[in-house]
Amino acid sequence: MKVVAKIGSSSLTTVTGEIDHGAVAKLCAEVADLREDGHHVIIVTSAAISAGLGPLGYGPGKRPKDAGLLRAASAVGQIALMATYKGHLASNGLMAGQVLLAPTDLWHRSRYLKSRGTLEALMARGVVPVINENDAVADDEIRFGDNDRLAALVAHLIDADCLVLLTDTAGVFTGDPRRDSNASLIEEIVEIDQALELAVGGPGSTAGRGGMASKLAAAKIAAWSGVETTVAQSDRPKVLREAVEGVAGVGTVFRPRAQRLPARKLWIAFALPPTGRIVVDEGARHALEQDQRSLLPAGVTGADGLFAANDAVELLDERGAVFAKGLTRWCRADLDSFSGSHSRDLPEELAEEVIHRDDLVMLP
Ligand code: GLU
Repeated sequence: MKVVAKIGSSSLTTVTGEIDHGAVAKLCAEVADLREDGHHVIIVTSAAISAGLGPLGYGPGKRPKDAGLLRAASAVGQIALMATYKGHLASNGLMAGQVLLAPTDLWHRSRYLKSRGTLEALMARGVVPVINENDAVADDEIRFGDNDRLAALVAHLIDADCLVLLTDTAGVFTGDPRRDSNASLIEEIVEIDQALELAVGGPGSTAGRGGMASKLAAAKIAAWSGVETTVAQSDRPKVLREAVEGVAGVGTVFRPRAQRLPARKLWIAFALPPTGRIVVDEGARHALEQDQRSLLPAGVTGADGLFAANDAVELLDERGAVFAKGLTRWCRADLDSFSGSHSRDLPEELAEEVIHRDDLVMLP
C-alpha cells in the first residue's frame, strides 16, 4: 500500500516551542514498522515555522504577523526539522529524502509530473520522502497554508491507498470538544456535506494553521481522488498501522467516492485557485449538469474578477450558488463584450465554447 501520513505542527511542537523529538521518533518507528510489511509511507510534515521561531527570539505561543519573518523562521526551522527526521529514520535503518513543494508545482502539468516522478523514484529506492510546503519562498496569497491540503494533493499525485492526518485530537467530533462536553467522535463519514462543515467549525491551535475545517477540506480532495482518509490522534500507539489496517475506533474514517475524478479534473477542482466567477442562466446550468454540454456564451449572464484565457473560474447559477469550476477559454473583456451572443455572431478568433466540457468539473 501507498500511505501518506501528515503530521501537524501542534503534534510536533513541545509546550516550550521546540521540536518534539519523542513525537518524531514515534512516527519514524511506525513508518519503519509499515515498511517491514512492504508498505510505502510518505511523510508530510509541518512545524518548520514553529521550530524556527524560538531560535529567532519568539517565545512559545508567539507568532509574529510579518510574513517575511515567518518565511525566515521556516528556513531556520526546516533544517532542524529535517535533521530530526533524518536521525530518527536512520536509527530505524531508513533514509529520508526532503521534498519541498509550492502550490505552483502542482498547477503546472509538467511540474506536477516531475513532482510525481521524484516521489516515485524515492519510493522505488526505499527512501522515505519527507514533504513540507516550501515556506521560505511561499507567496502570501498563493500558499497551501496548512499541510492538510498539500497532503491530500500528494495522496492524489501518487495514487495513494490511504491518507492519514495525524493531529492532537482523536478525530472529528460532532462539535468542538474544547467547548462542548457533549461532542462525540464520529467514526465514519461517507459524504462531507455543508451541515458537517458547519458543525466542525474553524481552525484550532496557535502552533499551526490546520484545525478541523482544513482536515475536512483535505478529506474531500482525497475522497474525490478515490483515497480513504483517516483523522487520528498522533500519540495513539500504533496509530499508522491501525489506520492502514482499518481498525475500528482508530479515529474518523472518510470513505472515498465510488467514482474517482480524473487527474485533470481534480487538478481543476482543487489545485487551481479561481481568479473569477461566471454567472449562467438556468438553461445553461441544466445543459451543463444534465446533458454534459460545454458552456456557450449564450448562457452567460454576468462575470466578475479579472480572468484571462486558461484561468480557473467558478460557475454560479442565478441564485449565486457555485455549482461548477472550469478553465475558461475566454478572458473577462471578451465575455463582457459577447456574453449572451449566439455562437454564429462571434468573431472568428474567439473559441466557440467559453468553457469546454473537458475543462469543466461539476461540484456537489
Ligand atoms: N508548512 C508550515 C510549517 O511547516 C505549516 C504551518 C504554518 O503555517 O505554521 O511550519
